Amino acid sequence: MTNGDMRNGPCGVCGADEVYQGEFTGQVGLRPVGVTLGKRPVFDVYLCGACGHAQWHLKLTPGLRSYIERRLDRRPPR
Ligand SMILES: [Zn+2]
Repeated sequence: MTNGDMRNGPCGVCGADEVYQGEFTGQVGLRPVGVTLGKRPVFDVYLCGACGHAQWHLKLTPGLRSYIERRLDRRPPR
């Protein structure tokens, strides 16, 4: 059981065992809502070849983790 985590299992939406890995790069940033400055992180992306579902995972460095903890709003579990 993967709980929908496509890094180690099938697609979290359709269940297909056709998951591909890539990296997302480009001119995107990660910032608090409504703020104009931010970091430019790199994401690992897992794509389902059957339904197109994509799952992104941020490559956390200590500096980026600190930035997230200091600058972004934490959402409590629901
Ligand atoms: Zn799928």
